[in-house]
Amino acid sequence: MSMQHGRAAQLAATTRQLYDLGWMRGTSGNVSVVAQDQPLHLLVSASGIAKHATQPEHAVVTDSAGRALDGQAHAPSAEAPVHAAIVDAVGARSVVHVHAMSSVLAAARWPGGVRLSRLEQLKGLGCSAEGEEYVVPVVLNSQDMADLSRRIRAALNPEMPVVLVADHGMYVWGSSLDDAANRTESVDWLLQYRLMHDVVVRDADSR
Ligand SMILES: [Zn+2]
Repeated sequence: MSMQHGRAAQLAATTRQLYDLGWMRGTSGNVSVVAQDQPLHLLVSASGIAKHATQPEHAVVTDSAGRALDGQAHAPSAEAPVHAAIVDAVGARSVVHVHAMSSVLAAARWPGGVRLSRLEQLKGLGCSAEGEEYVVPVVLNSQDMADLSRRIRAALNPEMPVVLVADHGMYVWGSSLDDAANRTESVDWLLQYRLMHDVVVRDADSR
């Protein structure tokens, strides 16, 4: 198995795993991983493929701007340029984009950013659980990928490998596909905690 095919198989397996977690409904969401450096190529999810049916041949090779190289069997996800922008901005090796309900609700509840502190699960993002406060940035959605990329670049918090996009979902990145997927699980846990905390703890306190 070539290195490229190995990565494409891993991309498909990670995509199905994220689908199984309920974060890639319909054909939503996409995943990318750096396929080679100099020149930088990415392997990106194909557009329009049901995520539970994703196979290795659904990985599309793009250039460093997220444009498909010649001879690809499928078109890359429309959001490929945003993946490319994040790889360029933070040196990530893999980016996960999902429409997890927790990310959309948290962005609506805290449009100025989601504050997190003390939680053990923060360690899953390489953060401290000892009291330091972190803010997950939130940006407005756009149908223009260059515009969305600019907003994400401008909002990046170097301590947090995640940006929420209001009314849309989130981008999470890491040093490998597994790292980006694991971090996505941690982010979802943290956002669910913050959303449920308000209902379970704050409302109970006020009685
Ligand atoms: Zn999306």
